[in-house]
Amino acid sequence: MKCPVCKLGTTKIGKSTLTVDIKGHLFFFKDVPSSVCNNCGEVYYSSAVSKQVYQAALESIKKGSEFEIIRLPKVA
Ligand SMILES: [Zn+2]
Repeated sequence: MKCPVCKLGTTKIGKSTLTVDIKGHLFFFKDVPSSVCNNCGEVYYSSAVSKQVYQAALESIKKGSEFEIIRLPKVA
């Protein structure tokens, strides 16, 4: 798709690392499916992926983690 930020580049499907901070708990997600703009480098995540990331982080908080490196299960 065309990048909504710079309006010049196009996004390319790839994988990114994502850092999420929820209430002081820090989570580092690896190999997150994303789209990256080839011009400005802006990274986009689908709503399904965002939801999965958030759920995984909440699960980890429940377990009492302050910091965790999470690799998402295969996204459908
Ligand atoms: Zn862009």
